[in-house]
Amino acid sequence: MTDTRVSDAGVPDLRIRDVIAELERAYPPALAQSWDSVGLVCGDPGEPVTTVILAVDPTEQVVDDAIESGAQLLITHHPLLLRGVDTVGAHTPKGRLIHKLIRAGCALFTAHTNADSADPGVSDALATALGLTVTGPIESQPGEPLDKWAVMVPEDDTEVVRSALFEAGAGRIGNYENCSWTVAGFGQFLPVGEANPTVGAVGDLEQLPENRVEVIAPRRLRTELLAALRVAHPYEEVAFDVFEMADVPSARGLGRVGTLPEPVSLREFTDRVAEALPSTTWGVRTAGDPESEVRTVAVCGGAGDSFLDAVSRLGVDAYVTSDLRHHPADEHLRAGGPALIDVAHWATEFPWCGQAKGVLDDAFGDTAVLYVRVSDVRTDPWTHSAR
Ligand SMILES: [Zn+2]
Repeated sequence: MTDTRVSDAGVPDLRIRDVIAELERAYPPALAQSWDSVGLVCGDPGEPVTTVILAVDPTEQVVDDAIESGAQLLITHHPLLLRGVDTVGAHTPKGRLIHKLIRAGCALFTAHTNADSADPGVSDALATALGLTVTGPIESQPGEPLDKWAVMVPEDDTEVVRSALFEAGAGRIGNYENCSWTVAGFGQFLPVGEANPTVGAVGDLEQLPENRVEVIAPRRLRTELLAALRVAHPYEEVAFDVFEMADVPSARGLGRVGTLPEPVSLREFTDRVAEALPSTTWGVRTAGDPESEVRTVAVCGGAGDSFLDAVSRLGVDAYVTSDLRHHPADEHLRAGGPALIDVAHWATEFPWCGQAKGVLDDAFGDTAVLYVRVSDVRTDPWTHSAR
């Protein structure tokens, strides 16, 4: 909130871009799948915002709810415009919604597969609703590519060089900044030719105490760090090493695996899923022996049949997801895969709305200038079932 202006009354004057910055911190756009479309769909980042509405889908009823609430920002999980469009003319269903939103001064923002892969993300919200303690993703994404820098620097200049590296973006690990590791040693060099040494003289072998300063930095900042190092370091020729760190699995990725506090039967767990999530026409269907024991559970908000093999390899007792089809489900069970619990797509992703509201409440709650509400419009397309 560093760029938030303060009005004459001393109340922070929030802009849509301030809210987007918090959302993108929680759900980095770089985590989105390559085919996806996330971010601002329509609206002006510079406009003020006091009311935000959250929903899974940008349906007409949700748009009406946002506008009637006087919202300046509607945040949805599913994109309105996923594939390329040639027109947003009001004669098309989606174009009509875009017109409605713009005329009412309401922006639309989407956090889709970036919210799926974030930590915490959509499947964390689902797992938490089901009472699971999450141990990791079904399919982990590598963390941000990192370099490790090792810089040799005279003792007296160590602090200046280290600070310059931090200033350029090095030394951040999770919630820790200014991280580095230093070891003392001896450096030596023999200036020759046209050298103009800071220490020593041409033709004299110089030996002196130096520190080796190690820091970690995002690989994307390599040029900036090198420039900062050359400015801050006293030597004409700087001795340094840059190592590319190996990829290690991160807490980010699609789906989640978790454990229940106590084992329960599949039948009981199915009931628990039905109680924990909003009820739908689709209901909650289970495939597998209802009396089998469930302790470890994989979940994937939204359509998760692409992870049937992955959850079998993980050896969990049950897998909760949506949009499962007859043949893949049948073959999965014949091959000895975990029990399946199939929930309506909307219901598996609805808990994310509360999570995203929490992101904004945590960021702006103390300002009391942003009202955030989860829309109570149900966007499950299924409306009736008969037996
Ligand atoms: Zn979805």
